[in-house]
Amino acid sequence: MINALDRLVTLLAKLPGVGKKSAGRMAYHILDTSPEYARDLAEVLAALHRSIRHCRICGGFTETDPCPICTDSGRDASLLCVVERAQDVRVIDDSREFHGRFHVLGGLIAPLEGIGPEDLSIGRLLSRVGKEGVREVILAMNPTLEGDTTALYLQKLLKDSGAEVTRLASGLPVGGDLEYADRLTLSRSFRGRVKL
Ligand SMILES: [Zn+2]
Repeated sequence: MINALDRLVTLLAKLPGVGKKSAGRMAYHILDTSPEYARDLAEVLAALHRSIRHCRICGGFTETDPCPICTDSGRDASLLCVVERAQDVRVIDDSREFHGRFHVLGGLIAPLEGIGPEDLSIGRLLSRVGKEGVREVILAMNPTLEGDTTALYLQKLLKDSGAEVTRLASGLPVGGDLEYADRLTLSRSFRGRVKL
């Protein structure tokens, strides 16, 4: 029994997609690699929550607040892409198909889980649409039951906002996850977005 290794394995096994077996492999790999590597890893992990926060405008992850996307004057402020989670911003931004700004909802409406509109950053979204001269709101939530419910809710709220509301075209697998969509699929979804 080696306590430090066991603890490491237990912690690594909590990561998504990592079972006990691969957690063990990772732990031994970290042990076999240089002490500097282990120290770097530990330092980055320890500082993670200190160095990364949510942008006060869009809600995305950032080291500076407001984030580089919100302060980038080269972006088209008339396009606002609404996503469920902060990590979705990066997925869509990496696709290079979208050059507007983002808004992170912080979840989806899920009555069964007790998550209602008031738990999401919907008020802030509405005020942004009014203030930032948004011409088109692109709803980019996943095509799940909760995603559809949320999209419908937002569409109704934004009906009289003066902005057009569109949703990413199908092309993402039903029940699928934005995170796993490849760049090409995402680009196609953006170009083929549909008016709601
Ligand atoms: Zn931002």
